Amino acid sequence: MPFFIDDQKRALDHLHRNEPQHSDLVGFLSTTLDRFVSERLAPRAAHRDDVEEFDEEAFQALGATGYMALSIDEEMGGLGAAYSYSVAGLESLAKADAGFALAVAIHGTTADGINCFGSEALRQRYVPKLASGELLGCFCLTEPDSGSDAKGMRTSYRRDGDSFVLTGTKYWITNAPSAGVFFVVARNEDGGRISTFAVERGWEGTFEIQPIKDKMGVRGSNTGMLVFDGYRVPEAHLVGDEGRGFSYAMQMLNGGRVTIGAWATGVAQGAFEKLVRYASERQLFGKRLADLDNTKRELSEMLIGIHAGRALSYAAALDKSLGLDIARDAAVAKVAASEAAVFCGERAIELAGGYGYARESRIERHLRDALLARIGEGANELLKIMVIPRAIEQQFEAEGTPELW
Ligand SMILES: Cc1cc2nc3c(=O)[nH]c(=O)nc-3n(C[C@H](O)[C@H](O)[C@H](O)COP(=O)(O)OP(=O)(O)OC[C@H]3O[C@@H](n4cnc5c(N)ncnc54)[C@H](O)[C@@H]3O)c2cc1C
Repeated sequence: MPFFIDDQKRALDHLHRNEPQHSDLVGFLSTTLDRFVSERLAPRAAHRDDVEEFDEEAFQALGATGYMALSIDEEMGGLGAAYSYSVAGLESLAKADAGFALAVAIHGTTADGINCFGSEALRQRYVPKLASGELLGCFCLTEPDSGSDAKGMRTSYRRDGDSFVLTGTKYWITNAPSAGVFFVVARNEDGGRISTFAVERGWEGTFEIQPIKDKMGVRGSNTGMLVFDGYRVPEAHLVGDEGRGFSYAMQMLNGGRVTIGAWATGVAQGAFEKLVRYASERQLFGKRLADLDNTKRELSEMLIGIHAGRALSYAAALDKSLGLDIARDAAVAKVAASEAAVFCGERAIELAGGYGYARESRIERHLRDALLARIGEGANELLKIMVIPRAIEQQFEAEGTPELW
């Protein structure tokens, strides 16, 4: 079975059928990228999960396919394709190796942030190399004492001559151990303005990176802690306007939520396909597991969740490319797809019985991976209690509360 499946093609057809590049882009996803996933990624995913290591060579090989350049502007060496094609590709990557795909997703968020908000000089310096996979990027918002409450960040900066001086700790940073550019969010030491910086290693002052190990899932990605102590960042590496960094980070997270929606759909699809295969072979009470009513109902519920997560994520991705406000729909897609992924991961284990519970089955990994999707890029609780209700309120303010009819 191919990694890029017909359901993905159909979801893209709904959005792009009549566009001139559509069949070429689908062709890329179904041939070049699919070959990379099936030959390079999938066979080594279980090993990467065991050793908890990001495959840097595979990342460079993925860059060579052109995947990372798909949605990058043409003048920056990309193809300028709609973001929906990128997230469809990410779904395939996540189905095979969710840890590796998470690294690619966060890298993409970094490239997107520098491309959208950086000066022309920063864009020229980083975006082509991020698009080709020559450089790995990471997005550094979370700290030991602030995750969901991101405004509680303590990492600070102060201006000193022609530099900004950074001090503080960033935690849970995907790609940190091998990244070449760090998109860092920090607060002015006066306690007010939040700004963003494109940071490299090797400048003056202290910048240490320590790996974070023993994660439950997404073990094909490397995670790290960054410690800055009086680290000097040249002023030209301020991204965008000083004081607008929180808004930039939130816009990047909106894009990231769409990505995680597609990522979670890939994780869910992986669990689903493995269960379909097992259920068609396993015999009990004189029938195939697949022929039991309960299994049929559970598979239907899994498929419903997968389809919903995919449709919502791809559509929100297209809206992002069109420049629409995606705050609400990105959150909706991320919550729906992540809940579907956890549901599929959990049901696949139980329906595969003792086999599903064993690492050998390679089914249980999907649940471990899926659980991250509820937490990362805005915890689902935060999205349901703050982000989505805010959008509902704004809609009613704009359109008026509905009349009873
Ligand atoms: C493997 C991994 C990779 C990551 N990669 C990155 C990265 O690359 N860059 C980065 O900046 N961060 C990254 N993170 C951090 C991630 O974004 C945070 O873990 C996430 O935002 C949640 O923050 P927290 O862990 O501090 O949990 P907390 O903020 O302490 O939240 C704990 C729980 O409280 C609940 N909750 C949260 N808000 C509310 C609310 N308003 N009302 C009610 N309940 C609520 C939720 O259930 C939540 O899960 C990563 C995390 C992990 C585990």
